[in-house]
Amino acid sequence: MADVQTLPPTTVTDLRHQVSGPVFVRGDAELADEVACFNTNGGVHDPAIVVGAANPDDVSAAVRFAAEHGLPVRVQATGHGPGPRAKNGMIVSTERLTTVQLDPTARRVTLGAGCQWHRIVTAAAPFGLAPITGSSVTVGAVGHTMGGGIGPLIRSHGFSSDWARGFRLVTANGQILTVDARTHPDLFWALRGGKGGFGIVTEMTLELPHIPVLYAGRLVFEGAANIEAALRAWVSWLPSAADDVSTSVALAPAHGPDAAGGQRLHLRFVYPGPAADGARLVAPLRGAAPTVQDTVREMPLAEVHSIHGDPVDPLPLQSFCTELTGIDQDFASAFLARVGPRTEAPFAESEIRHLGGVAAQDVVDPGAVGGRGGALMLRLVIEDPTVAPRASEIAAGLFADAGARKFSTTNVNFAGSMSKRPAFERSWPEPMRRQLAEVRAAYDPDGLFPFGPAPVQDAPPQAAVPPVPEAPTIRPRRIFDVRRWFGRHTGQPLR
Ligand SMILES: Cc1cc2nc3c(=O)[nH]c(=O)nc-3n(C[C@H](O)[C@H](O)[C@H](O)COP(=O)(O)OP(=O)(O)OC[C@H]3O[C@@H](n4cnc5c(N)ncnc54)[C@H](O)[C@@H]3O)c2cc1C
Repeated sequence: MADVQTLPPTTVTDLRHQVSGPVFVRGDAELADEVACFNTNGGVHDPAIVVGAANPDDVSAAVRFAAEHGLPVRVQATGHGPGPRAKNGMIVSTERLTTVQLDPTARRVTLGAGCQWHRIVTAAAPFGLAPITGSSVTVGAVGHTMGGGIGPLIRSHGFSSDWARGFRLVTANGQILTVDARTHPDLFWALRGGKGGFGIVTEMTLELPHIPVLYAGRLVFEGAANIEAALRAWVSWLPSAADDVSTSVALAPAHGPDAAGGQRLHLRFVYPGPAADGARLVAPLRGAAPTVQDTVREMPLAEVHSIHGDPVDPLPLQSFCTELTGIDQDFASAFLARVGPRTEAPFAESEIRHLGGVAAQDVVDPGAVGGRGGALMLRLVIEDPTVAPRASEIAAGLFADAGARKFSTTNVNFAGSMSKRPAFERSWPEPMRRQLAEVRAAYDPDGLFPFGPAPVQDAPPQAAVPPVPEAPTIRPRRIFDVRRWFGRHTGQPLR
């Protein structure tokens, strides 16, 4: 593959004339900011050239340029993904593609590839409509949906990708395709869960369910005895959970002025319906143990992100994740013993999300979502890379405790970097992975859009150890002030 420094500068100047957005090459001061990531754990991107696409034609021109000059192409919206980060080639940055065209009558929205979920939540809420988001509204809607997307409404409304109705995609030859169930059904299937390696999405159309109100929030428990009682009550309650109720639990260090230190258990409850029904459904969990906080109430969709309270500032995040086929009190004991309040476990969050419900039922056109059949998702998150070795050991122990209840696949949005073979291979069942490879080969025969681990090669001859390069400075991306947005839309401080 060529490096852009070997190209005559006039060639880059030609590209600059063809596109409306900025073009930066390695050495330009602005390049680092353009490709800064929300998740700083994966390192920094170091591409040869970056195109900040201002419209779909810019994406097409960038891809044609890259194809002509043999540059691999990656795409970035927000940098929430775990990597891999580019070390060569081109990055197309989509953050300027933020159009939102809402048709409330048809209950559809067509959004630009740079849209974070909050833009769609805000546009749809006045009509009682809601996109099926993830837990964080600063994640990019397209990147999230291309992995399937597991959010706070997973059991009542399924994966985010179950609501995708079409895409516009720039393929490896620079062509802009309309992709939907009729025009390119193979691609339409692949883009709903297959994650990457097909081209660059410039637009996505979603159907929006009518969800005028949620009965949702968090029950927060403190103190080892209360945490254990609440966790065990939740585990016992799970088999009776209604299909339209989504819950999860998360152990996290207590923060804030009223926190007594140690850990708290956050039990999140989400019911897309009126308070009277919701209060009845949450009652057994509310009574599990005394709470230090109970935010479960009728809330507008604009507050959906407050349910999980995901980080809004850039962080070096790493998660250890597996799906499970079930859970019982023995596993609750293992969870408490490995990561509970009486341990020194280094996790910023130890979470179990309840999956299933409609997400696991016979979806008519399910797309290429891996991990659909899992009953629960177990995820341990660190925010400090120095604790990674210890965290990895604890995670391995807990996954081993799950034994035969470890599900064979883990959804790609939580599986880790796709450059790592184990993460890639457990993201889809083998036949689905093979079918996805066929779609990639059909639309990107020369592998312009790298995706997945590098092919296995014979071991190279032993070479002298190269000098360790100086670590590049990581510039995090603070992309959106969720606190200001929340205040503007609800008139309340973010809790
Ligand atoms: C704080 C946090 C909370 C999260 N919560 C959830 C959650 O609740 N549920 C869930 O399912 N996931 C969740 N995720 C994972 C998240 O959905 C994925 O990492 C997702 O890929 C992020 O997309 P992005 O565009 O924001 O990130 P980026 O890093 O910009 O993109 C990630 C990848 O998405 C693909 N991509 C993005 N845009 C395009 C495009 N236009 N065309 C083609 N490919 C594209 C590319 O493969 C790219 O490498 C969370 C991640 C974080 C850090």
